[in-house]
Amino acid sequence: MIHTLITLPYDEGALEPYISKETMQYHHGKHHAGYVNKLNSLIKGTEFENKALVEIIKTAQGGIFNNASQVFNHDFYFKGLSADKSELSNNLVEKIDRDFGSLEQFKELFLQSAANLFGSGWVWLSLNPEGRLVIEVRSNADSPILYNNTPLLTCDVWEHAYYIDTRNARADYLENWWHLINWDFVSQNLGNSEYIQFPCDENSGACAFSED
Ligand code: MN
Repeated sequence: MIHTLITLPYDEGALEPYISKETMQYHHGKHHAGYVNKLNSLIKGTEFENKALVEIIKTAQGGIFNNASQVFNHDFYFKGLSADKSELSNNLVEKIDRDFGSLEQFKELFLQSAANLFGSGWVWLSLNPEGRLVIEVRSNADSPILYNNTPLLTCDVWEHAYYIDTRNARADYLENWWHLINWDFVSQNLGNSEYIQFPCDENSGACAFSED
């Protein structure tokens, strides 16, 4: 199957002033598109050619894994952003309070984890198989899917996510990113996760997060 670049659910300039239009043009239009194109060229003629994205992530190594995972991660990241105000579901509020103390404490811990990630990577809010919320700090293209966790929210802390806007100041980017979290998306992922757990269907790789 041919993997395609998602269409952003908002205009490239919609996230300003927190994330600039120029960053979006490069991040989605160049970096994200680059991973999609690279994945399509790498899987051609291999056993991965007809596999769903999540199944590739679960079974591939090296360049195919890296590019497949980066496609998934960026799809997830961009869907998790919105310029519109959104609310956390009661279920999400309850679980954040239970597992982190409060939303404020969760914010502090999440942004601190992202600021401290050495090099390139992703920070995730995930639901673990025991039903607890966890913050996962993952290097490069590493994925919660490999740890049987269900991703709810992610922050991209590769430099290309912020260097145009805040240069070396990752902490400023993280504060800006916090303003843009699409809590509807996060709440919806939590709701879905009670019925659908990673890893998804062993045979088809079908999964609620990979098929829109
Ligand atoms: Mn990125």
